[in-house]
Amino acid sequence: MIDPFGRAIKYLRVSVTDRCDFRCEYCMAENMTFLPKSEVLSLEELDRLCTAFIEKGVEKLRITGGEPLVRKDIMSLLHNLGRHLKTGALEELTITTNGSQLARFADELVDIGVKRINVSLDTLDAQQFTRITRWGRLDQVLEGIQAAKEAGLKIKINTVAMRGVNDAEAMDLIRWCGDEGYDITFIETMPMGEIDGERADVYMPLSVLRAQISQHCTLEDSDYRTGGPARYATVTETGQRIGFITPLTHNFCESCNRVRVTCTGMLYMCLGQDDNADLRKALLADSDNTALNAAIDEAIGRKPKGHDFVIDRRTNAPAVSRHMSVTGG
Ligand code: SAM
Ligand code: SF4
Repeated sequence: MIDPFGRAIKYLRVSVTDRCDFRCEYCMAENMTFLPKSEVLSLEELDRLCTAFIEKGVEKLRITGGEPLVRKDIMSLLHNLGRHLKTGALEELTITTNGSQLARFADELVDIGVKRINVSLDTLDAQQFTRITRWGRLDQVLEGIQAAKEAGLKIKINTVAMRGVNDAEAMDLIRWCGDEGYDITFIETMPMGEIDGERADVYMPLSVLRAQISQHCTLEDSDYRTGGPARYATVTETGQRIGFITPLTHNFCESCNRVRVTCTGMLYMCLGQDDNADLRKALLADSDNTALNAAIDEAIGRKPKGHDFVIDRRTNAPAVSRHMSVTGG
């Protein structure tokens, strides 16, 4: 799959549910209305869809949400998708999770062939954690992360930087990750979906966070790249690598190799644009994937060049109306 700008699409992120056991303030409103189950793709449909993408050249598949590990029988989907690792068609199968269910599932993920996972964690302070996630418990997540480590999974911590909320804790998180052997990446808040508060209040350019971190250690730019949107710096004193994802202050679209599918089967060619393709309709059209393959090809043919994210204090309107939990982070 080659898009109009010559980018080969090899990375698919699939949201398997819009539901979650947390209500992180930057991600969801407290009283979210979730999709009726009838609109959400079945596990069989998700498998068919992922398999079609793998046959078209996707080498890396990330399962996300909402919280992927709260979807009923999610492990059966992951077990089935694991067959593509065995044949070598898929290089990597991975998940992004809030960590709440990892204590239950870490060993099984390893059995399936998952090697590394991303866990979202914005603070190491229990009260602050419950304030940010509204419904989450830090000890449960730390237990999950520990279980994942013991099972042999490589762990990357993703932290959303929020001014006046967790920025003062950045060094604690960096040191903790260094001690535990986890990678860490900081992310800027993105204007996606209506939430209860004002995003502009906590929006923090990572250039500012980086300057704060630099008061405690020396950061050197690194040319290390993973093919994703993160740019890296190395802590001179310890050699630890820190990632920064800055969708608002930087454009990382030139090297974009990914597309996303929501749990209702909508294919989004760009996280920051509204154009999409209805793959559920295509899935239902026949059983030999003719319509599905045609719909995917047609959509990749109009992948846009990049996003137009702006957090606008005057309108406070999100740049895209859907929540990150719908498209999958
Ligand atoms: N529930 C899982 C989790 O939290 O890791 C997976 C889905 S969550 C939507 C994926 C990632 O998106 C998380 O790291 C979360 O912090 C991030 N996220 C959610 N809303 C965001 C926003 N508006 N701006 C930036 N990151 C956001
Ligand atoms: Fe749930 Fe993840 Fe959104 Fe938090 S960021 S509410 S854990 S989907």
